[in-house]
Amino acid sequence: MRQSQLFATTLREAPAEAEVASHRLLLRAGYIRQLAAGIYTYMPLGRRVLRNVEAIVRQELERAGAQELLMPALQPAELWKDSGRYDAYGPELIRLSDRHGREFALGPTHEEVITTLVKNEIGSYRRLPVTLYQVQTKFRDERRPRSGLLRGREFLMKDAYSFDATLEGLDRSYRKMYDAYHRIFERCGLRFRAVEADAGAIGGEGGTHEFMALADIGEDIVVVCPHCDYAANLEQAASKAELAEHRGKSVPAIETIHTPDVRTIEQLTRHLAIQAGDVIKTIIYSADGNPVAVLVRGDHEVNELKVKNLLGANEIVLADSETVMKATGAEIGFAGPIGLSIPLLVDEAVAAMERGIAGGNETDYHIGNVVPGRDFSVERSGDFRSVKEGELCSRCEEGRLQFVKGIEVGHVFKLGTKYSEALGAGYLDANGKEQSIIMGCYGIGVSRVVAAIVEQHHDERGMVWPTSVAPYLVHLVPVSVKDETQRQVAEDLYGTLQRMGIEVLMDDRDERAGVKFKDADLIGLPIRIVIGKDAADGNVEYAERHSGEKRLVPVAEALDLISGANAASLH
Ligand code: ATP
Ligand code: MG
Repeated sequence: MRQSQLFATTLREAPAEAEVASHRLLLRAGYIRQLAAGIYTYMPLGRRVLRNVEAIVRQELERAGAQELLMPALQPAELWKDSGRYDAYGPELIRLSDRHGREFALGPTHEEVITTLVKNEIGSYRRLPVTLYQVQTKFRDERRPRSGLLRGREFLMKDAYSFDATLEGLDRSYRKMYDAYHRIFERCGLRFRAVEADAGAIGGEGGTHEFMALADIGEDIVVVCPHCDYAANLEQAASKAELAEHRGKSVPAIETIHTPDVRTIEQLTRHLAIQAGDVIKTIIYSADGNPVAVLVRGDHEVNELKVKNLLGANEIVLADSETVMKATGAEIGFAGPIGLSIPLLVDEAVAAMERGIAGGNETDYHIGNVVPGRDFSVERSGDFRSVKEGELCSRCEEGRLQFVKGIEVGHVFKLGTKYSEALGAGYLDANGKEQSIIMGCYGIGVSRVVAAIVEQHHDERGMVWPTSVAPYLVHLVPVSVKDETQRQVAEDLYGTLQRMGIEVLMDDRDERAGVKFKDADLIGLPIRIVIGKDAADGNVEYAERHSGEKRLVPVAEALDLISGANAASLH
């Protein structure tokens, strides 16, 4: 491609609302243009990167045995009503109606469409398993479309769906996708972690992993262990409780302590000159309307998701003052475990305390010398607390957990029979019995991946594309196109590289060298060949954007280096 003809304009400044590096740089270098909030045109350079990412995605999915199809973006509302998601999806679902007043939605995801399709195509276990995928534009009316391609309202997604007859089959299908995702993100040059995650809006049962590209501007916090490969999202993460050894010590009987208007842990520790870790904190929740007490150490926080999962509840909320009064006989701030007649969930770190100070179930009173197991039941003990940075990893028990930020670039999810049951997608098993198909779903935000790559691969001058996804491998920059020798050497190289099948951009513009170099840095192609005054002696400068390394080499050697880099970029 000749840069004089390239449909791209570089900008010195990015619009003020472009806060993150990928948004700024993709705009400035002319890779994307905004049409409306969260809605972008991929300009020729951006389109090439997108296609490169798509190609990697397709290769790895086909390698894993998935088959590509393309489903409609325009979907009858009926389907969404049948699955129960028409209301549940909320305002993110873009709704519209046709000339006859029939309701439609623009697909934010395709479980409904594909389950209906498979229901009509597959009747017998003999046709299972099958995994289908598409690369398609998705529509979500995000509350806060922001950060350019990272959170769009119209964006490109690869979505795949697996269909199996058995749970073991689902495990195999899931594993294949999980492995393919590793290869995809590695080939895209991303530093990432596969993170154990909770079942989100899609719902369902069993395992789910989010693939997180590590970046400081990420919206999600990922808990990682520097010692092993443990990674989990913040809600899901578990740490090993470090418990003091205190067997055999005897503790005097409980004592009542007057604590007027002392309601918070902070007030209590100040009032009694103790540490937060000496306190047994009792929080009353309402789980689907039923009161339950959760006990954590004063220096820990309750993890509501863990409580909710253990109880199998749909919803848990902090109990209101009336419920607390009814359950404890006291105002909020004085709940304790002794004598409570509601279920007690005791965090393992509390269960292991030698003694603690707890609420007295009487306004303005606490109780000291409370011994877990002696003074209240620790029958239902488990992990009910949120992890804190620096705690011991629950897997290897050696590393100290770190909190890092991530961008969710992919998601693999065991759905089970949620959609096949709702939409009646069954198959006949070997005994001729009707069964529900067991599903998995697997998404990659293809356009978000492009932005995530930029977040990880840029410097103050511009983007630094990995060769696997760069829009062109080589940037030829004749310093002066008015110089006949330089122009000729550049043209020759350009022709040779094209014949070699190497993607090359040549800056044939009659611009000052400084402008050309600035633009080249911004556009960020992996290899730059500068053709300057040494061209007269048959030498050109070979420069790597990534390392900044430059050297003067004969043209033939430059070609060798380029073809080596090209071979390395093709897996
Ligand atoms: P998020 O929590 O970021 O909103 P999600 O859980 O809604 O993501 P999924 O429904 O699992 O996302 O969609 C699959 C993939 O599509 C995500 O892993 C992400 O990479 C991508 N994606 C989701 N929403 C957007 C968006 N608004 N813009 C760009 N990519 C997106
Ligand atoms: Mg979302």
